[in-house]
Amino acid sequence: KTYSASATSGGNIKVVIRCRPLNSRELVRGAKCLIRMEGNQTIITRPTDATGPGNSKAAARKGEEDVKSFTFDKSYWSFDKNDPNYATQVHLYNDLGEDLLNHAFGGYNTCIFAYGQTGAGKSYSMMGYGEDKGIIPLTCCELFNRIDRNCDNTVTYQVQVSYIQIYNERVRDLLNPKNKGNLKVREHPTLGPYVEDLSKLIVNSFQDIEYLMDEGNKARAVAATNMNETSSRSHAIFTLILTQKRHDAETKMDTEKVSRISLVDLAGSERANSTGATGARLKEGANINKSLTTFGKVIASLADASSGTSRKGAKKADSFVPYRDSVLTWLLKDSFGGNSKTAMIAAISPTDYDETLSTLRYADAVK
Ligand code: ADP
Repeated sequence: KTYSASATSGGNIKVVIRCRPLNSRELVRGAKCLIRMEGNQTIITRPTDATGPGNSKAAARKGEEDVKSFTFDKSYWSFDKNDPNYATQVHLYNDLGEDLLNHAFGGYNTCIFAYGQTGAGKSYSMMGYGEDKGIIPLTCCELFNRIDRNCDNTVTYQVQVSYIQIYNERVRDLLNPKNKGNLKVREHPTLGPYVEDLSKLIVNSFQDIEYLMDEGNKARAVAATNMNETSSRSHAIFTLILTQKRHDAETKMDTEKVSRISLVDLAGSERANSTGATGARLKEGANINKSLTTFGKVIASLADASSGTSRKGAKKADSFVPYRDSVLTWLLKDSFGGNSKTAMIAAISPTDYDETLSTLRYADAVK
Protein backbone atom coordinates (compact mmCIF):
# COMPACT_ATOMS: atom_id res chain seq x y z
CA LYS A 1 0.00 0.00 0.00
CA THR A 2 1.24 3.49 -0.79
CA TYR A 3 0.35 6.22 1.62
CA SER A 4 -0.22 9.76 0.45
CA ALA A 5 0.40 9.15 -3.21
CA SER A 6 -0.42 12.84 -3.53
CA ALA A 7 2.45 15.24 -3.53
CA THR A 8 4.59 16.09 -0.56
CA SER A 9 4.12 18.95 1.85
CA GLY A 10 3.58 22.61 1.10
CA GLY A 11 6.40 25.04 0.48
CA ASN A 12 7.09 26.24 4.00
CA ILE A 13 7.30 22.84 5.67
CA LYS A 14 9.63 20.10 4.57
CA VAL A 15 9.53 16.61 5.99
CA VAL A 16 12.47 14.29 5.37
CA ILE A 17 13.30 10.78 6.60
CA ARG A 18 16.79 9.69 7.48
CA CYS A 19 17.63 6.05 8.09
CA ARG A 20 20.71 5.27 10.18
CA PRO A 21 23.04 2.38 9.31
CA LEU A 22 22.87 -0.96 11.10
CA ASN A 23 25.00 -0.74 14.23
CA SER A 24 27.54 -3.34 15.33
CA ARG A 25 25.11 -5.09 17.69
CA GLU A 26 22.57 -5.41 14.91
CA LEU A 27 25.23 -6.71 12.53
CA VAL A 28 26.40 -9.27 15.09
CA ARG A 29 22.92 -10.63 15.64
CA GLY A 30 22.32 -10.67 11.90
CA ALA A 31 19.39 -8.23 12.09
CA LYS A 32 17.56 -7.65 8.85
CA CYS A 33 17.25 -4.22 7.29
CA LEU A 34 13.52 -3.52 6.98
CA ILE A 35 13.82 -0.25 5.07
CA ARG A 36 14.24 0.52 1.39
CA MET A 37 14.25 3.88 -0.29
CA GLU A 38 13.31 4.73 -3.86
CA GLY A 39 13.34 8.35 -4.91
CA ASN A 40 11.50 10.21 -2.19
CA GLN A 41 9.75 7.09 -0.96
CA THR A 42 10.56 5.17 2.20
CA ILE A 43 9.38 1.56 2.13
CA ILE A 44 9.10 -0.60 5.23
CA THR A 45 8.66 -4.37 5.22
CA ARG A 46 7.27 -6.27 8.16
CA PRO A 47 9.76 -8.93 9.26
CA THR A 48 8.67 -12.46 8.49
CA ASP A 49 10.69 -13.80 11.38
CA ALA A 50 8.64 -12.24 14.14
CA THR A 51 10.42 -13.86 17.04
CA GLY A 52 13.15 -11.26 17.43
CA PRO A 53 12.93 -8.53 20.06
CA GLY A 54 10.42 -5.81 19.25
CA ASN A 55 8.69 -7.86 16.61
CA SER A 56 6.21 -9.78 18.71
CA LYS A 57 3.65 -6.99 18.61
CA ALA A 58 4.01 -6.80 14.86
CA ALA A 59 3.40 -10.52 14.56
CA ALA A 60 0.30 -10.21 16.67
CA ARG A 61 -1.29 -7.78 14.27
CA LYS A 62 -2.93 -10.23 11.95
CA GLY A 63 -3.98 -9.10 8.53
CA GLU A 64 -1.66 -6.12 8.36
CA GLU A 65 -0.01 -5.63 5.00
CA ASP A 66 3.65 -6.60 4.83
CA VAL A 67 4.98 -3.70 2.80
CA LYS A 68 4.11 -0.04 3.31
CA SER A 69 5.37 2.87 1.32
CA PHE A 70 5.41 6.53 2.35
CA THR A 71 6.29 9.60 0.32
CA PHE A 72 8.26 12.50 1.81
CA ASP A 73 10.15 15.52 0.52
CA LYS A 74 13.32 13.45 0.73
CA SER A 75 14.31 10.00 1.93
CA TYR A 76 17.94 9.80 3.04
CA TRP A 77 19.96 6.62 3.21
CA SER A 78 23.21 6.44 5.13
CA PHE A 79 24.92 3.19 4.24
CA ASP A 80 26.27 2.33 0.82
CA LYS A 81 27.75 5.44 -0.73
CA ASN A 82 26.65 4.29 -4.19
CA ASP A 83 22.98 4.33 -3.31
CA PRO A 84 21.19 7.26 -5.02
CA ASN A 85 19.54 8.17 -1.69
CA TYR A 86 22.83 8.19 0.24
CA ALA A 87 23.28 11.50 2.04
CA THR A 88 26.12 12.87 4.13
CA GLN A 89 25.78 15.53 6.82
CA VAL A 90 26.82 18.21 4.33
CA HIS A 91 24.20 16.92 1.90
CA LEU A 92 21.51 17.42 4.57
CA TYR A 93 22.80 20.88 5.34
CA ASN A 94 22.75 21.79 1.63
CA ASP A 95 19.18 20.52 1.25
CA LEU A 96 17.72 22.00 4.43
CA GLY A 97 20.06 24.27 6.36
CA GLU A 98 21.08 26.57 3.57
CA ASP A 99 17.52 27.41 2.56
CA LEU A 100 16.62 28.17 6.16
CA LEU A 101 19.68 30.35 6.57
CA ASN A 102 18.75 32.36 3.47
CA HIS A 103 15.31 32.79 4.94
CA ALA A 104 16.76 33.94 8.26
CA PHE A 105 18.86 36.58 6.50
CA GLY A 106 15.63 37.66 4.81
CA GLY A 107 14.33 38.46 8.31
CA TYR A 108 12.06 35.46 8.86
CA ASN A 109 11.90 32.78 11.52
CA THR A 110 12.97 29.26 10.80
CA CYS A 111 12.91 25.97 12.63
CA ILE A 112 14.55 22.58 12.18
CA PHE A 113 13.51 19.73 14.40
CA ALA A 114 14.47 16.10 14.76
CA TYR A 115 11.89 13.46 15.64
CA GLY A 116 12.36 9.76 16.28
CA GLN A 117 13.05 7.00 18.78
CA THR A 118 16.18 7.12 20.94
CA GLY A 119 19.17 5.80 19.02
CA ALA A 120 17.66 6.49 15.58
CA GLY A 121 20.01 9.38 14.77
CA LYS A 122 18.46 12.64 16.05
CA SER A 123 21.64 13.89 17.74
CA TYR A 124 23.78 12.66 14.88
CA SER A 125 21.70 14.65 12.40
CA MET A 126 21.36 17.76 14.56
CA MET A 127 24.71 17.98 16.36
CA GLY A 128 26.81 15.28 14.76
CA TYR A 129 29.69 13.55 16.45
CA GLY A 130 33.24 14.95 16.40
CA GLU A 131 34.41 15.93 12.94
CA ASP A 132 31.20 14.63 11.46
CA LYS A 133 29.32 17.87 12.12
CA GLY A 134 25.54 17.90 12.04
CA ILE A 135 23.14 20.51 10.78
CA ILE A 136 23.40 22.81 13.85
CA PRO A 137 27.18 23.35 13.70
CA LEU A 138 27.14 23.54 9.90
CA THR A 139 24.39 26.19 9.99
CA CYS A 140 26.14 28.19 12.73
CA CYS A 141 29.44 28.03 10.87
CA GLU A 142 27.89 29.32 7.66
CA LEU A 143 25.99 32.02 9.56
CA PHE A 144 29.29 33.54 10.67
CA ASN A 145 30.94 32.98 7.30
CA ARG A 146 28.20 35.08 5.76
CA ILE A 147 28.47 37.77 8.40
CA ASP A 148 32.26 37.87 7.96
CA ARG A 149 31.94 38.05 4.18
CA ASN A 150 29.49 40.93 4.39
CA CYS A 151 30.97 44.02 2.83
CA ASP A 152 27.87 46.20 3.03
CA ASN A 153 28.93 48.67 5.72
CA THR A 154 25.38 49.98 6.14
CA VAL A 155 24.42 46.72 7.86
CA THR A 156 25.54 45.49 11.26
CA TYR A 157 24.78 42.08 12.69
CA GLN A 158 24.31 40.71 16.16
CA VAL A 159 23.86 37.05 17.05
CA GLN A 160 22.54 35.86 20.39
CA VAL A 161 21.91 32.34 21.57
CA SER A 162 19.69 30.72 24.14
CA TYR A 163 19.45 27.05 25.00
CA ILE A 164 16.62 25.47 26.96
CA GLN A 165 15.36 22.08 27.91
CA ILE A 166 11.71 21.22 28.46
CA TYR A 167 11.16 18.31 30.80
CA ASN A 168 7.72 17.51 32.20
CA GLU A 169 6.46 20.87 30.88
CA ARG A 170 9.14 22.69 32.92
CA VAL A 171 11.70 24.95 31.33
CA ARG A 172 15.38 24.89 32.30
CA ASP A 173 17.93 27.43 31.12
CA LEU A 174 20.88 25.33 29.97
CA LEU A 175 23.13 28.40 29.71
CA ASN A 176 22.57 29.44 33.31
CA PRO A 177 23.47 26.56 35.62
CA LYS A 178 22.25 28.56 38.65
CA ASN A 179 18.75 28.19 37.37
CA LYS A 180 17.35 25.04 38.89
CA GLY A 181 14.81 24.38 36.27
CA ASN A 182 11.42 25.99 36.32
CA LEU A 183 11.39 29.26 34.46
CA LYS A 184 8.06 30.94 33.87
CA VAL A 185 6.61 31.10 30.39
CA ARG A 186 4.88 34.43 29.78
CA GLU A 187 3.18 36.14 26.89
CA HIS A 188 4.16 39.56 25.64
CA PRO A 189 1.25 41.49 24.08
CA THR A 190 3.05 42.05 20.79
CA LEU A 191 6.12 39.84 20.89
CA GLY A 192 4.26 36.68 21.88
CA PRO A 193 5.29 33.85 24.22
CA TYR A 194 8.68 34.01 25.92
CA VAL A 195 10.63 32.51 28.82
CA GLU A 196 11.09 34.94 31.68
CA ASP A 197 14.69 35.54 32.84
CA LEU A 198 16.15 33.39 30.08
CA SER A 199 19.84 34.02 29.30
CA LYS A 200 20.50 35.30 25.80
CA LEU A 201 24.22 35.44 25.22
CA ILE A 202 25.91 37.42 22.48
CA VAL A 203 28.25 35.35 20.32
CA ASN A 204 30.87 36.63 17.91
CA SER A 205 32.09 33.48 16.26
CA PHE A 206 31.28 29.88 15.58
CA GLN A 207 33.72 28.93 18.37
CA ASP A 208 31.65 30.97 20.86
CA ILE A 209 28.57 29.00 19.84
CA GLU A 210 30.39 25.68 20.05
CA TYR A 211 31.55 26.53 23.57
CA LEU A 212 28.04 27.48 24.74
CA MET A 213 26.53 24.43 23.11
CA ASP A 214 29.02 22.20 24.96
CA GLU A 215 28.31 23.97 28.25
CA GLY A 216 24.57 23.61 27.66
CA ASN A 217 24.92 19.93 26.82
CA LYS A 218 26.93 19.38 30.01
CA ALA A 219 24.23 21.18 32.04
CA ARG A 220 21.66 18.95 30.37
CA ALA A 221 23.60 15.82 31.29
CA VAL A 222 24.05 16.99 34.91
CA ALA A 223 20.36 17.80 35.26
CA ALA A 224 19.53 14.39 33.83
CA THR A 225 21.82 12.61 36.29
CA ASN A 226 20.42 14.54 39.25
CA MET A 227 16.89 13.66 38.33
CA ASN A 228 17.80 10.12 37.44
CA GLU A 229 16.75 10.77 33.88
CA THR A 230 18.28 10.60 30.46
CA SER A 231 18.21 13.44 28.01
CA SER A 232 16.01 11.34 25.75
CA ARG A 233 13.14 12.29 28.05
CA SER A 234 13.34 16.01 27.44
CA HIS A 235 13.11 18.34 24.48
CA ALA A 236 16.02 20.71 23.80
CA ILE A 237 15.66 23.98 21.90
CA PHE A 238 18.77 25.81 20.75
CA THR A 239 17.85 29.27 19.43
CA LEU A 240 19.92 31.73 17.41
CA ILE A 241 18.58 35.27 17.30
CA LEU A 242 19.92 37.21 14.34
CA THR A 243 19.51 41.00 14.45
CA GLN A 244 20.33 42.98 11.31
CA LYS A 245 20.52 46.75 11.66
CA ARG A 246 20.57 48.84 8.52
CA HIS A 247 21.42 52.53 8.37
CA ASP A 248 20.13 54.48 5.41
CA ALA A 249 22.54 57.35 4.75
CA GLU A 250 20.01 59.35 2.74
CA THR A 251 17.04 59.22 5.06
CA LYS A 252 19.21 58.83 8.19
CA MET A 253 16.79 56.10 9.24
CA ASP A 254 17.74 52.93 11.06
CA THR A 255 15.79 49.75 10.42
CA GLU A 256 16.08 46.50 12.27
CA LYS A 257 15.21 42.94 11.27
CA VAL A 258 15.14 40.23 13.92
CA SER A 259 14.86 36.57 13.04
CA ARG A 260 15.08 33.38 15.04
CA ILE A 261 16.55 30.08 14.03
CA SER A 262 15.20 27.37 16.35
CA LEU A 263 16.94 24.01 16.35
CA VAL A 264 14.95 21.42 18.22
CA ASP A 265 15.95 17.96 19.41
CA LEU A 266 12.73 16.29 20.54
CA ALA A 267 12.36 13.71 23.31
CA GLY A 268 12.65 10.10 22.12
CA SER A 269 9.31 9.19 20.56
CA GLU A 270 9.35 5.73 22.19
CA ARG A 271 8.73 7.49 25.52
CA ALA A 272 5.32 8.48 24.29
CA ASN A 273 4.40 4.90 23.44
CA SER A 274 5.87 3.14 26.44
CA THR A 275 3.33 1.08 28.29
CA GLY A 276 3.38 -0.35 31.78
CA ALA A 277 4.83 2.81 33.34
CA THR A 278 3.61 3.96 36.74
CA GLY A 279 4.01 7.02 38.98
CA ALA A 280 6.53 9.60 37.81
CA ARG A 281 7.31 7.67 34.62
CA LEU A 282 3.64 7.56 33.72
CA LYS A 283 3.30 11.32 34.15
CA GLU A 284 6.49 11.89 32.19
CA GLY A 285 5.32 9.61 29.37
CA ALA A 286 1.96 11.37 29.29
CA ASN A 287 3.66 14.78 29.07
CA ILE A 288 5.98 13.64 26.27
CA ASN A 289 3.07 12.06 24.47
CA LYS A 290 1.00 15.21 24.79
CA SER A 291 3.74 17.53 23.61
CA LEU A 292 4.67 15.31 20.64
CA THR A 293 1.02 14.89 19.69
CA THR A 294 0.41 18.63 19.97
CA PHE A 295 3.58 19.29 18.02
CA GLY A 296 2.35 16.98 15.26
CA LYS A 297 -1.07 18.65 15.19
CA VAL A 298 0.41 22.13 15.02
CA ILE A 299 2.75 21.26 12.15
CA ALA A 300 -0.01 19.38 10.32
CA SER A 301 -2.38 22.32 10.50
CA LEU A 302 0.34 24.63 9.22
CA ALA A 303 1.23 22.24 6.39
CA ASP A 304 -2.47 22.28 5.44
CA ALA A 305 -2.57 26.05 5.57
CA SER A 306 0.57 26.36 3.46
CA SER A 307 -0.75 23.97 0.81
CA GLY A 308 -4.23 25.53 0.96
CA THR A 309 -6.09 22.35 1.88
CA SER A 310 -7.57 21.00 5.04
CA ARG A 311 -7.32 17.47 6.44
CA LYS A 312 -10.88 16.69 5.40
CA GLY A 313 -10.47 18.18 1.96
CA ALA A 314 -12.99 20.91 2.74
CA LYS A 315 -12.19 24.56 2.30
CA LYS A 316 -9.99 25.79 5.07
CA ALA A 317 -12.02 27.69 7.61
CA ASP A 318 -10.62 29.73 10.45
CA SER A 319 -8.54 26.81 11.69
CA PHE A 320 -7.63 26.42 15.31
CA VAL A 321 -3.98 25.65 15.97
CA PRO A 322 -3.50 24.20 19.47
CA TYR A 323 -0.23 26.01 20.29
CA ARG A 324 -1.13 26.41 23.93
CA ASP A 325 -1.54 22.70 24.59
CA SER A 326 2.17 22.22 25.29
CA VAL A 327 5.06 24.41 26.41
CA LEU A 328 7.05 23.24 23.39
CA THR A 329 4.56 24.45 20.77
CA TRP A 330 3.67 27.56 22.72
CA LEU A 331 7.29 28.70 22.85
CA LEU A 332 7.82 27.89 19.18
CA LYS A 333 4.60 29.60 18.10
CA ASP A 334 6.38 32.41 16.26
CA SER A 335 8.77 30.00 14.61
CA PHE A 336 5.94 28.22 12.81
CA GLY A 337 3.39 29.46 10.31
CA GLY A 338 3.16 32.83 8.63
CA ASN A 339 6.36 33.48 6.72
CA SER A 340 8.36 30.98 8.74
CA LYS A 341 10.02 27.92 7.26
CA THR A 342 10.18 24.59 9.05
CA ALA A 343 12.05 21.37 8.34
CA MET A 344 11.45 18.11 10.15
CA ILE A 345 14.04 15.34 10.09
CA ALA A 346 12.44 12.06 11.11
CA ALA A 347 15.23 9.70 12.15
CA ILE A 348 14.54 5.98 11.82
CA SER A 349 16.23 2.72 12.72
CA PRO A 350 16.48 0.14 9.92
CA THR A 351 15.66 -2.79 12.21
CA ASP A 352 12.90 -1.81 14.65
CA TYR A 353 9.58 -2.40 12.90
CA ASP A 354 7.12 -1.02 15.45
CA GLU A 355 8.96 2.17 16.37
CA THR A 356 10.00 2.90 12.78
CA LEU A 357 6.47 2.42 11.47
CA SER A 358 5.19 4.71 14.21
CA THR A 359 7.73 7.40 13.22
CA LEU A 360 6.85 7.06 9.53
CA ARG A 361 3.16 7.43 10.38
CA TYR A 362 3.83 10.47 12.54
CA ALA A 363 5.91 12.11 9.80
CA ASP A 364 3.28 11.22 7.22
CA ALA A 365 0.50 12.79 9.29
CA VAL A 366 2.53 15.94 9.81
CA LYS A 367 3.14 16.86 6.18
P1 ADP B 1 19.39 9.73 19.07
O1 ADP B 1 19.90 11.11 19.22
O2 ADP B 1 18.18 9.66 18.18
O3 ADP B 1 19.17 9.02 20.36
P2 ADP B 1 22.02 9.20 17.93
O4 ADP B 1 22.07 10.36 17.01
O5 ADP B 1 22.83 9.30 19.17
O6 ADP B 1 20.51 8.84 18.29
O7 ADP B 1 22.43 7.92 17.06
C1 ADP B 1 22.72 6.65 17.62
C2 ADP B 1 24.00 6.09 16.99
O8 ADP B 1 23.84 5.88 15.59
C3 ADP B 1 25.18 7.02 17.14
O9 ADP B 1 26.31 6.23 17.45
C4 ADP B 1 25.36 7.65 15.78
O10 ADP B 1 26.69 7.96 15.52
C5 ADP B 1 24.82 6.59 14.83
N1 ADP B 1 24.15 7.21 13.68
C6 ADP B 1 22.94 7.76 13.70
N2 ADP B 1 22.58 8.22 12.48
C7 ADP B 1 23.61 7.97 11.67
C8 ADP B 1 23.87 8.21 10.29
N3 ADP B 1 22.97 8.82 9.50
N4 ADP B 1 25.06 7.81 9.78
C9 ADP B 1 25.97 7.20 10.57
N5 ADP B 1 25.79 6.94 11.88
C10 ADP B 1 24.63 7.32 12.44
